[in-house]
Amino acid sequence: MPSDLVIVYHRQPYEEVEENGKIVFKENKSPNGIVPTLKSFFGRVDKGAWVAWKLSATPAEPDFERVVEIEDSFGKYSVSRLPLTEAQVKSFYHVTSKEAFWPILHSFKEKYDYDPVDWPTFREVNWAFAEAAANEAAQGAVVWVHDYNLWLVPGYLRKLRPDLRISFFHHTPFPSADMFNVLPWRREIIESLLAADVVGFHIPRYAANFVGVAESLFTVETGPREDVNPDFVKEHVALSERRVAQEITYQGHKVHVQASPVGVDVDYIEGKASADETQAKAREIREEIGEGAMILSVGRTDYTKGGTDQLMSFERVLDENPHLHGKVRLMHVSVSANRNMTVYEGIQNEIEATVGRINGRFGTFDWTPVTLMSRAIPFDDLVAYYRAADVAWITPLADGMNLVAKEFAACRTDNRGALVLSEFAGAAVEMGSAILANPFSHKSMDRALLQALDMSEAEQEDRMKHMRETIRKYDIKAWAEDQMAGFSGKDGPL
Ligand code: UDP
Repeated sequence: MPSDLVIVYHRQPYEEVEENGKIVFKENKSPNGIVPTLKSFFGRVDKGAWVAWKLSATPAEPDFERVVEIEDSFGKYSVSRLPLTEAQVKSFYHVTSKEAFWPILHSFKEKYDYDPVDWPTFREVNWAFAEAAANEAAQGAVVWVHDYNLWLVPGYLRKLRPDLRISFFHHTPFPSADMFNVLPWRREIIESLLAADVVGFHIPRYAANFVGVAESLFTVETGPREDVNPDFVKEHVALSERRVAQEITYQGHKVHVQASPVGVDVDYIEGKASADETQAKAREIREEIGEGAMILSVGRTDYTKGGTDQLMSFERVLDENPHLHGKVRLMHVSVSANRNMTVYEGIQNEIEATVGRINGRFGTFDWTPVTLMSRAIPFDDLVAYYRAADVAWITPLADGMNLVAKEFAACRTDNRGALVLSEFAGAAVEMGSAILANPFSHKSMDRALLQALDMSEAEQEDRMKHMRETIRKYDIKAWAEDQMAGFSGKDGPL
């Protein structure tokens, strides 16, 4: 039976585990992240489908079923698994997406590497995703495509199935034309996105950049920039940005471009944060920390996350503020990507060396200024760290959204704790009540940390209440609804 909603996302929506020699599909019990939200839309249609890739030694004859029927707490849906070889995954994902697109999307021109890109393979893999989605989709179905590694899917789908309603969501930043147009495949990419009906971004700045790139490459007509919801918690929104929408017409086809920031599941996180186990674990963490203040930093080991810059700020702050010696501890969680990519190894080494230097310079027998954790902390435990921290220090150099910042605020039902957030994280647009810092400025970084350490309980409460109000109003469900509302005025299954 064809599907009314097809979600195209590179990862499979469950965990595959071996039990008694058989592969079984397990629902990921942690409803954190966007996958459960996407799956919840299957409950609104007669039939839903998901398209993802799966590693195969020989794609022509994979040793797994291409399409599996899943039944979990979200209902029944089918999953089309595209058999990709290791070489295809490396080329499409690790090389083209991570070494060419990722640095440009995050405005790191110097990290961009054009030479190893195998463009025909990128096209081939995107074509396979589009074909699988076209095979699953019913007449007039909605196909929801996710992220830059599937940039060419909307264009291919439009050719294969002009009847479909296509929505594309971009999970990273989107840079201005001067940066984006470095990509030699820029016209092909943008033309594909302009074949969608809805193109979504986290924040208005990325949406405006996309419109600017389209204008720089093609003759397009652009409609007025509309405020979708001018009253949306505007008193707490930083940088004068709100949710916006704009239409672009290219070759007679209208595309609805909109900004809707991805949120977190506030109810679920609040529940976790208030649970007895979490509270007990948070107390244990505090006992280990001792008397001083606990600063928490959480992110992946990626040059965009600015780990080394942050550690250097901590070193300067300790250098210039001897009264803080023995009184503060930084828990620096920098999860290694483990991708065997030299660029990531380099950053890991840099972080380890900087932590070693700080601890060597300032540490004493009973005080270690920085604790580095390179392994991912399970979400249930992370919630306890969020609850235990006095300061969350989240200062990426560039970040599409940054869910860690939102999760921290969602956890603080006690309205305590201070958040220092980079101006260059998408989340800063909504979380104007955080202390916003510019990670490219030493003064701004150091000052923001000192201000957070010094913040009164009354001020913490005031700021935290505002942040919690914002992220509750615009949680993960609101984000998904907004994407679907982009089709407003058109008849369809959703
Ligand atoms: N995370 C986790 N354990 C860790 C570090 C991070 O579970 O040790 C999760 C975190 O809860 C968040 C996600 O990983 O949901 C990171 O998302 P974010 O948007 O902050 O950054 P990204 O890694 O997507 O760039």
